[in-house]
Amino acid sequence: MLCKRFTQFLFILFYFSFAIKVSLAVAIQTQEKSLAGFDAAALVIEKLIDSNTSLAHSKLKNYDEHFNELSLKQKITYQYLLTDIYISQGQFYLVKQAATEGLLLTLKLPNPSLLISELLYNRGFAYESTGEILLATKDYESGLELAKSLHNNTLIATGLINLGATYYLTDYYEKSLIVLNDAYNIAKQTNDEELKGSVNSELGILYANLDRNEQAMVYYQQSYQHYKNANKKDLSLNALVNIGLVHLFEKKYEQAISVYKTIIDESNGAAINHIMYSAYSGLSLANLHKKNSNPEVSYQYLLLSKKYMESVEQYDTEQQYYVDEAFVLFELERFDEAIDSIAKVESILAAQMPLGHLKMQALISILNLKSKIYFKQRHYQQAYALQEQQLSLTQTLYDKKHIQSVAEVRLALEAKEADLQKQVLKNKQALQGISLLEAEKKQAQQQLYVLYIAVVALIFAWLLVKLVQGQRKLYIASSIDMLTGIVNRRELMKKGRKLLSRAKIQKTNFSVIMIDIDNFKKVNDEFGHHVGDQVLKKIVELGEGFLRKTDVFGRFGGEEFIIFLPNTSTAQAKVIAERFRIAVEEHAWKINHTSQKPFTMSISMGITNSVDFSLDELFDLTTLINKADSLLYQAKEQGRNKVCA
Ligand code: GH3
Ligand code: MG
Ligand code: MG
Repeated sequence: MLCKRFTQFLFILFYFSFAIKVSLAVAIQTQEKSLAGFDAAALVIEKLIDSNTSLAHSKLKNYDEHFNELSLKQKITYQYLLTDIYISQGQFYLVKQAATEGLLLTLKLPNPSLLISELLYNRGFAYESTGEILLATKDYESGLELAKSLHNNTLIATGLINLGATYYLTDYYEKSLIVLNDAYNIAKQTNDEELKGSVNSELGILYANLDRNEQAMVYYQQSYQHYKNANKKDLSLNALVNIGLVHLFEKKYEQAISVYKTIIDESNGAAINHIMYSAYSGLSLANLHKKNSNPEVSYQYLLLSKKYMESVEQYDTEQQYYVDEAFVLFELERFDEAIDSIAKVESILAAQMPLGHLKMQALISILNLKSKIYFKQRHYQQAYALQEQQLSLTQTLYDKKHIQSVAEVRLALEAKEADLQKQVLKNKQALQGISLLEAEKKQAQQQLYVLYIAVVALIFAWLLVKLVQGQRKLYIASSIDMLTGIVNRRELMKKGRKLLSRAKIQKTNFSVIMIDIDNFKKVNDEFGHHVGDQVLKKIVELGEGFLRKTDVFGRFGGEEFIIFLPNTSTAQAKVIAERFRIAVEEHAWKINHTSQKPFTMSISMGITNSVDFSLDELFDLTTLINKADSLLYQAKEQGRNKVCA
């Protein structure tokens, strides 16, 4: 049950990034023959866009007839205002058109103008909103380059913010963190409340993507406050949407409901479509999951959200809606309709291949739901087939490097953010007056990543199927190495970290044996991969014979293995390693039972122990493993089939 909420949460996070618009005032200069009155009107229109977009639009349209009488700068300004208006209305196709026309006009300008950056940013935002991230990045980069050459801090920060968003959308979290921090520092030095709101908002989304909700919440609250100060209603409501999402994710459904109701109150129903959509779909989700939920209420909110969904152009909204609809219909036991909704999601996603990890996650969760439905309908065969599909998707997801990169960035983050943290805490104190947004201390922060959640779903669904099929082969792709049956690298590292931290606290011995098979390539070359695989299995089987229950034996990768031995000194570990080494050496290696052709195998090992590092405060599992690896290398240097400690 956990899975779908989590997925949807991160999933919908996607589209609440808001590129910011920069005051036009600096950019307008009258020159050549210009239409009297337009420049003053432009300033009025620009202000109006936030409060009354349609009035702004009709005022601008008054100049349609006189377009040819406008000066070049005025024409460009006209196009720029048009892009701003369309952005407010979420009409991204029109944004692209107007921006491109404006940019064509800028080619005739004698000098570079900030307007060019602004047009590029707006067009980039339109691309970003319709999922064309590469094009968005290109526009943002060109706009930023120009802003830098013109030394305009606000526009530089804006460009960095926009880029930061495209980076996290494409899983480059580290890059995103860097540019957003740069933007944060520039924004800090200005009095531009909107800019500050925007950078806080993007940092919030980045941190939420990295599963750091508490941090994300603080940034969102700050962004809410800054936007309020700037009198930016939609943007401050958007910050509330994000705050509601964090509550949802943290399963604080009542708080989420209260935030969403605030959005509806504060907007008087007149906020832009996607905010209204988010508020109603949030209410639907919160009502579906809260204690004593009533799926019927949830469904009614969903229908309200649908009204708005239909006028939102953002490409993710429709898909998100149908995901929500499928889950609500499932709770209402309207299975056939739920299957229809799932089909819609599938066809939307099919058009977006290949999928990023969040979308892949959504696909897995929807397949999981589908198989549950089939199960309820007693279509066991179909339910089973879906499990297979999910399994392979989960595998792909896991194989993708970014999962690792999320982990790495998260670790790097802990170190880097000390500075930021101070700043944030300071701001947090200032924030305590904001009633709505109590940042309560979370109890146990949920540390699982997206992947773990998928796996929980997988195992859960698998158990269901197992009842029918008695199949074993779907068994936990996530933590077990398929070939050898021992834990895989990820699980190994997880267990190792746990054992090491316990050893550190209890000040006990913790040994690491790193193992590499000697000349393993030759086995593959001479006898084929299949035999290589059999050898791997056999060596693992031999090793397992020497281990205690508390030891952890895992495949580190390829033909490299690690054994973690808690409460074991180097000398004791050496004894075990020697036994293992001799067992491999003495095993009667044959290609198969009938063949007479024997061959020899051996392994080399490096051993380290936590006690050797007791003076080094900062040493961690990687330190131990690296040291063991270099000792292993020594063993190879000394002729292989050796143990070095
Ligand atoms: P060394 O003694 O220096 O370790 O020599 P080596 O031949 O073992 O060298 P190396 O570690 O570079 O080679 C590892 C080989 O293991 C390369 C790769 O093809 C093979 N290998 C990795 N994983 C598997 C597997 O799952 N099955 C099979 N059959 N081979 C694998
Ligand atoms: Mg190797
Ligand atoms: Mg080897």
